[in-house]
This record gives sequence, C-alpha cells and structure tokens, in this order.
Amino acid sequence: MTKPNTHYKELKDSYLFFGIAQKVNAYLEKNPGKRVLRLGIGDVTLPLCPAVIDALHKAVDDQSKKESFHGYMPECGDPALRECVHRYYAERGIALEKDEVFVSSGASDELGDILDLFDKDNTVLIMEPAYPAYVDANVIAGHRILHLPADKENGFLPMPDKAHKADLIYICSPNNPTGAVFSREQLKKWVDFAKEHETVILFDAAYEAFIEDETLPHSIFEIEGAKDCAIEICSLSKTAGFTGTRCGYTVIPKALERGGMNFNAMWVRNRTTKTNGVSYIIQRGAAAVFTPEGQRQIHENIRLYKENAAELMKVLDALGIWYCGGKNAPYIWMKCPDGMGSWEFFDFLLEKLQIVGTPGEGFGSCGEGFFRFSTFGNPDDTKEAARRLYEAFKK
Ligand code: PLP
Repeated sequence: MTKPNTHYKELKDSYLFFGIAQKVNAYLEKNPGKRVLRLGIGDVTLPLCPAVIDALHKAVDDQSKKESFHGYMPECGDPALRECVHRYYAERGIALEKDEVFVSSGASDELGDILDLFDKDNTVLIMEPAYPAYVDANVIAGHRILHLPADKENGFLPMPDKAHKADLIYICSPNNPTGAVFSREQLKKWVDFAKEHETVILFDAAYEAFIEDETLPHSIFEIEGAKDCAIEICSLSKTAGFTGTRCGYTVIPKALERGGMNFNAMWVRNRTTKTNGVSYIIQRGAAAVFTPEGQRQIHENIRLYKENAAELMKVLDALGIWYCGGKNAPYIWMKCPDGMGSWEFFDFLLEKLQIVGTPGEGFGSCGEGFFRFSTFGNPDDTKEAARRLYEAFKK
C-alpha cells in the first residue's frame, strides 16, 4: 500500500487569514456598504515599476523571434541575473562567487524546498512569532521543532542560549510579523552560536530592502564568519512587487559544509533534478530591478509604503502605545491597548472602527496580546485608520 506522509496530520489548521476573511464577510453582510479599512494581509498593492514592465515586454518580444527565443533556462538561474545579484551583494561589501547565487521562484518555494538538504532527524529552532510557513514546512518534513518565544522585553529579538539544542535555526530579519531587525552585534552572537554548535542558520531576508537605518545588516553575510554556517533566502516579492510575478534568490556559500557534504553542490544537484529553471521572461524582469533605474523606482514604491508606516507610528506614539517595526520593515507590531487579547482587539477594530488587521496570536502563542498592521495598503485607508485609532484611544 502507498504510505502517505502522515506528518500532514500534525499540521494545525491554518485558520488565521481564513478566520479573518470569514469575520470580515460576516460583518459586511450585517453592515452592507460600510467602508472597511484593510491593513491585514501582507500583499503589496503598488504595481511593478516601469523598468521591470519594459524588461518584461521586451522579453516577451524576444520569445516571438527565432534569433532571440529562449527555451529551458539554466536550472540554477540565468547567469545574467546571478551576476546582477552578485553585484548587488558586492556593492554592500559582500564578496560572493557568482555560482553561490541561485535564482528561485520566490522565498516560499525555497523555504520548503531547501529542507531537502537536511536529514529528517534534525531539530529546528523557530523564533516566534513567526511567518507560519516555517513551522508548517518543518512539520511536513518530519523535523522536531523547538519554539523560541520572543517578547516585548527582548524587543521580539531573542538571543541564543545553551538550552537551544537545535540543528537548524531560522532567523527572519526584518521580521514578519514583528518588523523587528537584528543588529550586527546580535546577529554576530547567533553566528558564533551556530558555529560553536555546527548548526546551519536559514536567514530569511525577504524584507531587507525596507531597512533604512544603515547600521542594521541587510544580509547575514555582512557578519564575519557567516559563510560557513548560513544560507540566505531572499525574494523580490515585497522589494519589487513580485508577489504575483514570482522571483527570488538564495545564497549558499561554497564554504558551507556539514558531515563532509557541501550544501552548494547538493543544491546544484537538487535544482538540476527538481526544476527546469525560472522563466526567461520573469528573470529578465527581475534583472531590471537591479539596474540603477530599477533600484530608484522600487525604492520610490517602498517610500510610499513607509509613508503608511509613518502615519500609523505617529498615532501610536501620540497614544503612548508600545510597538516595534515600521521604520525598517513594512509591518507594525503593537501591544493591544487596554489589556485586550489579540482576537478581542481584532473584533473591536472591525466592529467599532471598521479596521482589519492581523491578530498576533496567529503567528504563535507568544503573539497573544499583540497585533500586526501591514503598511502595504491604500494610503487613504491607512490615514483614515490612523485617525480612527487616535479618536478611539485618546485620553
Ligand atoms: N518570508 C517571509 C518572512 C514572508 O513574509 C514572505 C511572504 O509574505 C515570504 C517569505 C514569501 O515570499 P515569496 O512571495 O517570495 O514566496
């Protein structure tokens, strides 16, 4: 008999966004025509920038002519795009070899697939609150999971401890959902810890482009010693509006080895077996992100999202409500006012202020009592939500 992967039975129902949608729909059925301000889901709302659109159009035309047509692309990525990413790191003082960069269809795909590199008999450390895919991908892979809860006292940036006996460590910085960002000194402690325990760090840098405080690291490879203990997974989804276009990249240094096996070589083997590469058209669009014009244009979009963050932060500051994130990340993670629980605050916001956000508890139990606002929404809605919040909670 075919044996299914019974680990799927261990997955907890992902009721978070489904539960939110159900509550909002029920509210709108009872209150038709009410203007609901959506600051919940972390998808982008601004379109792809013109430099990317031009490159995509041109690539479509290339595919229409025999001389410029492309069939299968190299499995590990178009050398031209690998070169762009390589240069992007070099500009930040990180020297990589071009074949340490792999092009992907996005970070979610990689976060799941990368687990092929590790034996089932591994324990993973997941700092919580966390992007839900980390836990689910590891449950499916049959790994043991050690949950490391973060809290307000450590600014949602937990530090390593001897008790954390894990073989793989997830770090997401800037973090989803908290928006918190590890400093260089803090990341150095994690790198030292990983080296001491021969652990591998999976560093999710999906939000690196939102960092504006230049003292903060965008990449784990800015930290000395990280090349033999870390893999970095990055995405153009939030950086450049590629959520529906799909492209990202992963860096696996050649120095990264465990048990005499080389992870870069293993990943080449994995990709050449499991993919036939990302589409030519998409990779041409992605390469345009790294041109000077592309960089200027994507940062203009990021600036617009940051204006949303500024509106919300101004009001939370005025109300004296604790929060983190917003400045170097597209998320604001706030303490629910008046001792409310996460879902209680959700219901209050929906029913009294017609604002939708995301209850912190949905990202792990230590998120109870906290709430996430996404800054990817419509600017008028965000401004209006900030105004309603201020009116509701001013003393
Ligand atoms: N990593 C984090 C922390 C995210 O928040 C997200 C998306 O929200 C992803 C990865 C997935 O990104 P992608 O669209 O590239 O799959």
